[in-house]
Formats: sequence, structure tokens, C-alpha cells
Amino acid sequence: MDFARRYRVRPGSCVELSGANADDMAGYSKDHKTERQLKQVLSRLDEIQRLLYAEKKHALLIVLQGLDTSGKDGTIRHVMSGVSPEGCQVSAFKAPTEEERAHDFLWRVHKAAPRLGDIGIFNRSHYEDVLVVRVHNLVPKDVWSRRYDEINQFEKFLTENGTVILKFYLHISKKEQKKRLESRIHDASKNWKLSADDFKERTYWNQYQAAYEDALAKCSTERCPWFIIPANHKWFRNLAVSQIVLKTLESLNMKYPLPAGNIEKLRLK
Ligand code: AMP
Ligand code: MG
Repeated sequence: MDFARRYRVRPGSCVELSGANADDMAGYSKDHKTERQLKQVLSRLDEIQRLLYAEKKHALLIVLQGLDTSGKDGTIRHVMSGVSPEGCQVSAFKAPTEEERAHDFLWRVHKAAPRLGDIGIFNRSHYEDVLVVRVHNLVPKDVWSRRYDEINQFEKFLTENGTVILKFYLHISKKEQKKRLESRIHDASKNWKLSADDFKERTYWNQYQAAYEDALAKCSTERCPWFIIPANHKWFRNLAVSQIVLKTLESLNMKYPLPAGNIEKLRLK
């Protein structure tokens, strides 16, 4: 299954999230076969990350966005389980600090961009500056509305300098979010993650959907695509994201660099 093709937001297209099925499983089911495929993808990911790390010609930036409980942490845990921690960094973006607010909105993000050879995963990102910021009017409209172009230019700049960018919107339904929030209340391993804000944010559901629709439509480009990943089923979300990451890395045709010097002449004593 070509998940990239199925879930990619075509540049210039109109995005309507209400029409995207958060339960989609693309014909897969949660069985042994899928379980095996998930493992296979992770083991190939491990191999190809070594190549990325050795060759050091590309960096991979994975942007994860989605509403509360959409599974950003779980996706990171899954993808990370397939790669060596050396050469992979996760950056989580919270409400900006005073210092971050005193700079342009891309400053903190640019600093966290992965170096050549590495994979960088963003748990939330510069897109918050056209999402939460827009929904809560944290800056005037003329400021946030300029940011789509600024983001596109910034991402183009990164790609021209060797960074491959994949952006995943984890799409859950409002009903599924309710289920997940409720289950967090009673689960001691999860309720530490809950805040009154999560419940308040849920009341802005429609505003967030509209803000996401604009961000996905305006900022999905040929080189820096957005994918709308059906995320009501965690195993399917993991399969789709890791498969797209793997296929993208495979398409780079990377090669191990040649050893420095003539190692054939080296002799062990
Ligand atoms: P969490 O990911 O659940 O730890 O929450 C992080 C919070 O930081 C979320 O409520 C985000 O909306 C918020 N946040 C992230 N980036 C920004 C930003 N640029 N401006 C305002 N709030 C932000
Ligand atoms: Mg939260």
C-alpha cells in the first residue's frame, strides 16, 4: 500500500477534515500479518538510519501535529523504537518562553532542526504559530496570516540545504478524543498528562479544524508534504507513519561512504 500517495495533501488542494475518515485502515486489519509488517518496517528503518547517519548528506525532519490525545507521543515512541537513539532527537514545542517570544517565531524551531545524518522529530512545531495562536488570537490576524508564506520559505530553505521534511497531521474524531480524555481521567499512568486546558481546548474543536485545514492546504508543497493520517486506530497510525518515513528514506538512494585511506593495507598485529 502506498500510504504516502493515499494520505498526502496535494499542493494547492482544498482540505476538508470532516470528509477525512479518522477510522480508515486502508483494507488492513489488526492481525498477525500486520503485526509482522510493523516489525519489518521498524527493522528496515533501523538499517536505513545507519546509512543516513553514515552518509551525512541528508537530514530528516518529521513534524507531528494533532489535537490533544491524537497520539503524538505514542507515534514518537513507536518510530523511535526502530532507530538508534544516537542520531535521533525529539523536540517538543510548548508555549514559548519569554526569550523565545522576544525572537521571531521560527528562531527556536530553526535551532532544533536536525543536522545532516540525523532524524529530528518535532512534537508540535512552528505550525502552532498558525494554530493555537490563531484560534486564541495571540497575535493580530495580519501577523499570523503572513506566516504561511514564511513557513513555506523556511521549509524550502531547509530542503535546499539537505533536509527532507515530512509532516504528519494525526487525525482523530471528536468522539475518539472524548473516549481518550475520559480514559485518561481514570488511568494513573496517563492522568498526569491531563490538564483543565485540554478540556477547554476541546470546546474550540471547530476553530482548530478550520485552522488545521488552512495550514494543511497552504503549506503542503511538493517537497514538504503534509499527510493526513487516520489516527483513531493506534496500530494503523504507527504503520502508516513508519511506512512513509521508511519509503522516503529508501528513495534517497543513499550509499555508505568509502573508507578514508587505503584500508586494505592495514594489518592487525
Ligand atoms: P503539550 O504538547 O500537551 O505538552 O502542550 C503544549 C502546549 O503548548 C499546547 O497547548 C500548545 O498549544 C502550546 N504551544 C505550543 N507552541 C505554542 C506557541 N507557539 N504559542 C502558544 N502556545 C503554544
Ligand atoms: Mg496536552
